Amino acid sequence: MPADTAHTPNIENTDGARDLARLFALQKETCAASPYPSFDERIDRLNRLIRLTEDNETKFVEAINADFGNRSFYETVIAEIVVTVSGAKLAKKHLQNWMRPRGVPTPLHMLPAKSRIEPQPLGVVGVISPWNYPLQLALAPTVAALAAGNSVLIKPSELTPRLSEALKQAIASEFDEGVCAVVTGGVEVGQAFTETPFDHLLFTGSTSIGARVAQAAANNLTPVTLELGGKSPAIIDESADIGAAAKSIAYGKMMNAGQTCVAPDYVLAPEQLLDQTADAIADAARSMFPAIDTSDDYTSIISDRHFSRLKSLADDARKRGARIIEIGSSNALHPQRKIPLTIVINPPSDAEVMKEEIFGPILPILSTASADSAIAHVNAGDRPLALYWYGDNKQTRDRVLQKTVSGGVTVNDTLWHVAQENLPFGGVGKSGIGAYHGERGFETFSHLKPVFYQSRFTSGSILYPPYTEKTGKVLSFLRKFI
Ligand code: NAD
Repeated sequence: MPADTAHTPNIENTDGARDLARLFALQKETCAASPYPSFDERIDRLNRLIRLTEDNETKFVEAINADFGNRSFYETVIAEIVVTVSGAKLAKKHLQNWMRPRGVPTPLHMLPAKSRIEPQPLGVVGVISPWNYPLQLALAPTVAALAAGNSVLIKPSELTPRLSEALKQAIASEFDEGVCAVVTGGVEVGQAFTETPFDHLLFTGSTSIGARVAQAAANNLTPVTLELGGKSPAIIDESADIGAAAKSIAYGKMMNAGQTCVAPDYVLAPEQLLDQTADAIADAARSMFPAIDTSDDYTSIISDRHFSRLKSLADDARKRGARIIEIGSSNALHPQRKIPLTIVINPPSDAEVMKEEIFGPILPILSTASADSAIAHVNAGDRPLALYWYGDNKQTRDRVLQKTVSGGVTVNDTLWHVAQENLPFGGVGKSGIGAYHGERGFETFSHLKPVFYQSRFTSGSILYPPYTEKTGKVLSFLRKFI
């Protein structure tokens, strides 16, 4: 290992720790030996990633299902397999263009030199992924990092151990460990991972752990991309089609049982439309999951701890007198850790459900007096990862978009801006730092190196010392062009 990277993470000598140290050293050597993988090598790596995802589809679906207790088959295929493969195919399609040096204009007084930005691999990229979309959130950043020519080490969540193991084996079957590998383990391995001097670290997870990751990475000056969470609002305008908005919000909130970073966390609705909105969301939920108590299409909560946390959020709102509409009978669902959609109408602002990211199928609906009070509500909290706005009034829409700051926005629907790979995906403020997906992902994992190609016909040397009266005249002349 080169001297400048010989930082030893401070952890016990566990299997995970030994794997981490060995794999990091190996990947460093691989990058040093081949710092600029060719276009063909990168395409081959992306093909391997697509192949391992498709060939192991059944294994991944079963592993995720077992990790969750019950994970909707369709949600796994759409959100884990299809999203990953389509992202990799898009990267393949555009890679040649992304890798090309980008010419930038050279000012008149510097001609005839040329200037270019030349994307260059960073080296070894670390990816820490969460449990909620355990395959997609491990592989989507890996696609971007491999496309940019890096080696990648992935640390998946300990809450999805079967998927983590299946992913480790699938990656080992397609990749040389020097190019891509998985290291598994608990929080200690996660901490050691963040203390490892990667050339870039992408973390997807909670805001509180994200802050610790950034602190640990700072010791090595490792640049970080933090993909975090937060309370993403869905704002309903007076001009909205309530039926369509309700279906979209019910879908966004019930997909993966609300365990989605960009799920609508709560709804802001005009006072006069509050009851209509709540009823329409309840109706939409019932028609999407007519037998939610027994349906395998409705996903379980990941763990007993998360299940109890969500139950206590709903109980707290109930105790504080909020009106609750529950879709399905929650008691019948306990053995599979399922929680029905639980609509909480106008909880008080000090209710627990309004203080933290819900990350489950509980949906507060708050009445607002006007678009401006909805804006003020959003701006009183941390900057959200996503914002959803429903309506037809373009002036109000633009006012909301201009006066609120969120990671991303979908107008008149939920979630979709994330699936549009040509849009950068990331948070802002407490919901994240940096972004990836599509070309932005390639850039995140590249050093965009500025290169100035001097011409042999340069006249720059006339400004070299010794400084004379002639230097002053040349300078005065050149300043006319600046
Ligand atoms: P988490 O922060 O608990 O864990 C994420 C990962 O960090 C896991 O792999 C875990 O093992 C690891 N980890 C835990 N403690 C660590 C430490 N001290 N140092 C280093 N690594 C550590 O998050 P989670 O519960 O797995 O996921 C849910 C959160 O993730 C939610 O807040 C959600 O909004 C957010 N999320 C964000 C996105 C996004 O793209 N912005 C996507 C999915 C989830």
